[in-house]
Amino acid sequence: MAYEITFLVCGIVQGVGFRPFCAKLARQMSLGGTVRNTSDGVEIILRGKKEDIDKYILRLKKEKPDVSTITSIDFTREKHIDQNFSSEFTIVKSKRMDRQRVLIPPDIATCQECLHEMDDPANRRYGYPFINCTNCGPRYTIIKNLPYDRPETTMEKFEMCPDCYREYNNEKDRRYHAQPNACFVCGPFLWITDSDGNILGKNKKALDTSIDNLRSGKILAIKGLGGFHLACDPFNGQALERLRGRKRRKGKPFALMVKDLSVAEELCIIREEEKDLLRSSKRPIVICYRRKNCRIDEGVAPGQDTLGIMLPYTPLHHLIMKEFDALVMTSANISDSPIIADNSEALMQLGSVADLFLMHNRDIYMPIDDSVISNAGKVSILIRRSRGFVPSPLGIPVNAPVVLGAGGEMKSTFSLTQEKILFPGQYLGDLKQLPTVNYYRKALRHFMKLYNLKPEYLVCDMHPQYISTSIAAEETGIHGSSILQVQHHHAHFASCLAENEHWDKAIGLILDGTGYGTDGTIWGGEFFTGDIKNFSRAGHFLSSFLPGGEKSVLEPWRYALSLLNSTFDKVETFSIAEKLWPDKKHLIPIILQTIDEAPVTTSAGRLFDGVSAILGISPVISYDGEAAINLEAQSKGSMKAPFGFFKEKGEWILDWRETVHWITQNRDRLSNQQIGSAFHFGLSETLANIAEAIAADTGIRHVVLSGGVWQNRRLLNLTQVLLKRKDLIPLVHKYLSTNDECVSAGQAVIGAFKWSRK
Ligand code: ZN
Ligand code: ZN
Ligand code: FE
Repeated sequence: MAYEITFLVCGIVQGVGFRPFCAKLARQMSLGGTVRNTSDGVEIILRGKKEDIDKYILRLKKEKPDVSTITSIDFTREKHIDQNFSSEFTIVKSKRMDRQRVLIPPDIATCQECLHEMDDPANRRYGYPFINCTNCGPRYTIIKNLPYDRPETTMEKFEMCPDCYREYNNEKDRRYHAQPNACFVCGPFLWITDSDGNILGKNKKALDTSIDNLRSGKILAIKGLGGFHLACDPFNGQALERLRGRKRRKGKPFALMVKDLSVAEELCIIREEEKDLLRSSKRPIVICYRRKNCRIDEGVAPGQDTLGIMLPYTPLHHLIMKEFDALVMTSANISDSPIIADNSEALMQLGSVADLFLMHNRDIYMPIDDSVISNAGKVSILIRRSRGFVPSPLGIPVNAPVVLGAGGEMKSTFSLTQEKILFPGQYLGDLKQLPTVNYYRKALRHFMKLYNLKPEYLVCDMHPQYISTSIAAEETGIHGSSILQVQHHHAHFASCLAENEHWDKAIGLILDGTGYGTDGTIWGGEFFTGDIKNFSRAGHFLSSFLPGGEKSVLEPWRYALSLLNSTFDKVETFSIAEKLWPDKKHLIPIILQTIDEAPVTTSAGRLFDGVSAILGISPVISYDGEAAINLEAQSKGSMKAPFGFFKEKGEWILDWRETVHWITQNRDRLSNQQIGSAFHFGLSETLANIAEAIAADTGIRHVVLSGGVWQNRRLLNLTQVLLKRKDLIPLVHKYLSTNDECVSAGQAVIGAFKWSRK
């Protein structure tokens, strides 16, 4: 029997090559029908056998253009038709759109066709650094307002020449309604200046001067898609040292841009999944394991066994990278402030960092950082969700009012819901920096304007002093009973449930840095049961004191001292500690004396820091997470450290005292590699055992893994394997970051469920 089924696909499905894709797939599968744009999305009518149509939908979801995002597929009509239906499939004229719900696409890496033209001496855009088309180029970063039309973008000041105008208005042209369409005659251009702003050359001369200076070890500020990068030669140790010195950045790795996949493979071990990520139109920075004989200077990522690499994603990058195998391309900012995107600001702020500035006059309206991903087997861990991903939405199953999730603090983001859509915003950074506060306000206002969203409800963290809470309240004017405070790790938990479309109960293993707990202590190693709306604490890591509070984040030896103090008596603790950190000898007795008055925490992140410090890997660090990252980087081997767990007053407690004891006893006998890997293995196994125990108590089989600690690939892989062996089903982040960037999404979803409309 044959059917004709009509369905509506919503999300980012217009202006991203979606209809040609639908047609191609239908023809491939010999299904008849039509596809057209409507005001709500893309309407597809398919004729064929039911099972073929089902297969089509599955493939549509899986193989869709990677810039597109599907938030929902609704079946609107179904009827029987004659067996001898026509298998012709056509793209038909758009239905008139009065009330258009436009979803703005993220910025898209330069497509193959544009690259081809740029490399063709006969083409009028030969060597043009701003070539783009409907399938590629800037989007989110240049849009100022809706409707998404040229006058509402930063391209408004460039009047199209007759040739560009013809392309723009020809429905058959690849540049039909490509808003940033431009050429040498009418579009943006390049120039280079010194740090005083003196122009040293334009266009080709600017490009050549840049290349020469990069070759001779100079540091360049290069304006990209979402902001400036600082670029230098990654094979030149002196250039790297200069960059680190001027940027006051000690150990944090720099990202690299590499010419192409073959160079990437020469430097790093690149698996298929990583190739797909590197090549995707989102072009994130992908953290890959470096090869033993990798010729990149150690100064790029000191002490790491990985490199963060990306492929060129703008025409300008491609032109520059023709001349280099690899360049350092690190976000241009000053000490963790937001990325700099404005020409005059770049000159002002980076005058003492960059030697030269390669700039252009296509303004970046909404600055955005490069996204960062690391790949752990079949799952990718989003470490920073920004360019290429934002403003792509996710679908939610409730009809939500406009809810704003205000987010966390260190890795702040905001998220909004409306109807059945969740919009997670971009990575914004640490709100303790004033420039980040301004960036947060600007991005939030921008988002609200773009989608015409007026938040009715606000969801924020329980922490009484989060800056995000007060900014969000100020920006929206929401107060009183329209504000909901959500526990930090419940927000982590809910965000992971939502993106896995798991609307039932689950167990949560939330391993995090710190978050304000319902009992006023600092949580961070939490075992939950619950769902999006509610949770209860089924257990946690054994708590310990956090001497110096926030200070211990950058000084892991402080929490290490606390771990020792919980494991050994005072005399032993003192004698072990003074051997481990002789330069802190004078502080140790003072801290130990008053340690019982320090804040209490169950933080999993701090446990990693502490172990790292006991091993002497990172007693003091220069960026958040460094100690844990270094511990993971050093872990090699298959030993297993002992861990304990027990039930006390109805809660499962993960007890690390045995572990700390074992590590201190064995640190002279075993290598850090062995101990590090034994720690990961023992912890994974204990987490799986605890999940199993909670599952036995409750009958729940799904296990959410969320929180910043899950950026650790070794831990994530091992734990997933061990959970599956126990017939438990791990749920991990795929579209959102596992660190605090996901908190706002979780908050917004919790609010959406609470205030959902029928
Ligand atoms: Zn293109
Ligand atoms: Zn033109
Ligand atoms: Fe967190």
